[in-house]
Amino acid sequence: MAIDFNSNYTMTINGKGVVSPGSIEVVNPATGTAFASAPDCNMTQLDDAVAAAKAAFKTWRKLPISERQALVRKAGEVLAAHADDLARLFTREQGRPVDAAKQEILGAAQWLQAVSMMTPPMHVSEDSAAQRIETQYVPLGVICAIAPWNFPVTLSMWKVAPALVAGNTMVLKPSPFTPLCTLKIGELFRDVFPPGVLNIISGGDQLGPWMTSHPGFAKISFTGSTATGKAVLASAAKDLKRVTLELGGNDAAIVMPDVDLDDVAQKIFFGAFFNTAQICVATKRLYVHESIYDGLRDRLAAIAKMVKVGDGTEQGTVLGPIQNKRQYERVMELIDDARKNGLTLIEGAGVPASGYFIPVTIVDNPPEASRVVQEEAFGPVLPMMKFADVDEVIDRANASDYGLAGAVWSKDTDKAMDIARRLETGTVWINQNLNLRPDTPFGGHKQSGFGVENGMEGLLEYMVPQAVYLAKGG
Ligand code: NAD
Repeated sequence: MAIDFNSNYTMTINGKGVVSPGSIEVVNPATGTAFASAPDCNMTQLDDAVAAAKAAFKTWRKLPISERQALVRKAGEVLAAHADDLARLFTREQGRPVDAAKQEILGAAQWLQAVSMMTPPMHVSEDSAAQRIETQYVPLGVICAIAPWNFPVTLSMWKVAPALVAGNTMVLKPSPFTPLCTLKIGELFRDVFPPGVLNIISGGDQLGPWMTSHPGFAKISFTGSTATGKAVLASAAKDLKRVTLELGGNDAAIVMPDVDLDDVAQKIFFGAFFNTAQICVATKRLYVHESIYDGLRDRLAAIAKMVKVGDGTEQGTVLGPIQNKRQYERVMELIDDARKNGLTLIEGAGVPASGYFIPVTIVDNPPEASRVVQEEAFGPVLPMMKFADVDEVIDRANASDYGLAGAVWSKDTDKAMDIARRLETGTVWINQNLNLRPDTPFGGHKQSGFGVENGMEGLLEYMVPQAVYLAKGG
């Protein structure tokens, strides 16, 4: 049956579409007005979802892994086949321009397909006449998956793919700001996975804490802010649930004096501002060697003036609005704080008057202690600072509780590798940025995370080793 992507947003519990007595409103950030509503899952429905996932786990875990992999692969095909419909909906709820929205859907589909090729290892420690000792990896049970609003589809599928391949079942909750695409994906996948394997629920601010304290979950996989991540970890401690936490970042990029400014300016600009800078691994502190500082600043300012910020459904829009009012106010507060403290702000092109729009803003060489340098903005305000000495700039880059990603820009790749190794982050890019792959682990050092996603390491976070000792000849 054809799916209506414009209305009837239902949760998926035990393979069925489920509405709720209550609902939450979903706002189009380009207009600031509500355009849809989603179910507000109540406690009984959460219990139903967990019970369905628990029942499904018994059979799902017993399926040969090749069958689970095939279904995850099929889910990728189904997602890709509906990329256009989902992209239009994505833009309305998330704000990102339609072409870039479609890239996210297709990227998530590729992720499902790539992870479906992964098989956990089995180790044999001894296979003698006396005994065989093997360690295999077994699934954990029901996974609680909680996603944020900045990459709602990608970051959900990063959890769905490995968890299901590993043999777990799941209850997934999107952010209350961006539930719609995820709910529709749940509807699409009802024909793919057996009932109960993947349950998708939506709700308001109370639902996350209900989930993390629910005793039916074996593990929580959470992506969101560091502050919430700490609450999740505390909640998980009660039952010693396993956790993977993908949290905030305040990523530094270091630009060495030997770069070709015309070549790197565009790349650095979009590494900072793509998705209106609402990316955990966006460049959020830009350290530029003093000898090239003015040249890079002027080039970035020129790009900022040319880039159209507006409604993502309009032709030519490159950057959309801030996704929600709360985040809009937070970013505006940081900009006001910079202004009040007399910092020099360079503004890009004008923005529409209604909706949650903020012009691209570059802060010209603010003191290291300013809030705009110290805090994760998660919006289009980029502090750029001068440096003279490499050791000193590495110390400044590392002087953060965060440690998600970082970047080094230099023609001298040996020197860049040396700097990269000294950055206290889970990912470092050299002469590129924002590049992540399904086969490569991604995670944060320090308060940016706990555990990893992606790669074999990410798959094994959804499993636990089981050692089997078999005595022979007895
Ligand atoms: P958030 O922490 O406010 O919310 C994330 C999710 O957690 C939402 O689904 C929310 O409903 C839920 N939630 C809120 N309070 C909860 C609680 N007490 N218990 C359980 N769940 C709760 O984050 P956000 O504003 O949606 O996302 C932005 C943040 O996410 C930024 O800090 C960004 O850097 C980070 N992020 C990190 C990664 C990564 O992979 N490291 C990726 C994307 C975003």
